[in-house]
Amino acid sequence: MTATIRIALTGIAGRMGRTLAEAIAADAQLTLAGAVERPDSSVIGTDVGELTGLGRNGLLVASELDQVVAGCDAVIDFTAPAATLAHLACCREAGRPLVIGTTGLDGAAREALSAAAVDIPVVYAPNYSVGVNLSLKLLDMAARVLGDSVDIEIIEAHHRHKVDAPSGTALRMGEVVAQALGRDLADVAVYGRQGHTGARERATIGFETIRAGDIVGDHTVLFAADGERLEITHKASSRMTFAAGAVRAAVWATGQPPGLYDMNDVLGL
Ligand code: NAD
Repeated sequence: MTATIRIALTGIAGRMGRTLAEAIAADAQLTLAGAVERPDSSVIGTDVGELTGLGRNGLLVASELDQVVAGCDAVIDFTAPAATLAHLACCREAGRPLVIGTTGLDGAAREALSAAAVDIPVVYAPNYSVGVNLSLKLLDMAARVLGDSVDIEIIEAHHRHKVDAPSGTALRMGEVVAQALGRDLADVAVYGRQGHTGARERATIGFETIRAGDIVGDHTVLFAADGERLEITHKASSRMTFAAGAVRAAVWATGQPPGLYDMNDVLGL
């Protein structure tokens, strides 16, 4: 019998935490070996299977990752930036790979990922769906072919609970397009427009954000010329697409040397 891979989940009570628990339960090669929530959460000490609706399993929700990390082969973290940095330090200390889904990480946090990746495998992707990661490749190709002859706008929509804007995926899409065109996103990004904005400057890359209802995640990159436009759109209809990708990344990370990786590495794109 092959040994199962033991995964710990932080943010177990969250939207992604619950979906990740479901993805792990559906895979016979994986075991959910640790589950963590905020120390002040009402779910600390409750049965994880009961919390996630997967049936009682005797695993209790812990209040700190360091209580469970030693019994795991990899950790998956979809929480919030400050929590992610604390979990990163814990994984580094314990020598365990970490898969990060949290978005809204600032420059200092990204540097902390690189520093920890000297000692452990760290996978960081603002979007774990295979379709989105393929679309990044398509965007790179589109930007190179269309060059400076088009206006580029990125439109994203998410559910009303999302706390950061634009989405990490939209920003990543912007980075890919800007890089393909030799532009620095920090210089050319325009976040929303209002009032007397003047005519559009060709080199800018515009971002528009929609927050409404239960939208799981829609992204469109619009390349508009005179006479035609190309739109590359991805729509996620279930969080399971992100969970499945993150679980795949965790399994992959257990066999990797220390380093900072993204979904391109995991998928071999
Ligand atoms: P959520 O608010 O439903 O869940 C986050 C959970 O983390 C909450 O239960 C919260 O209590 C918990 N948490 C906060 N601090 C913690 C700590 N110190 N220790 C343990 N748990 C802690 O949010 P969500 O919709 O599940 O999204 C979580 C993050 O993942 C967000 O940043 C979101 O943008 C991102 N996300 C990324 C992808 C991707 O593919 N990369 C997909 C979906 C969501």
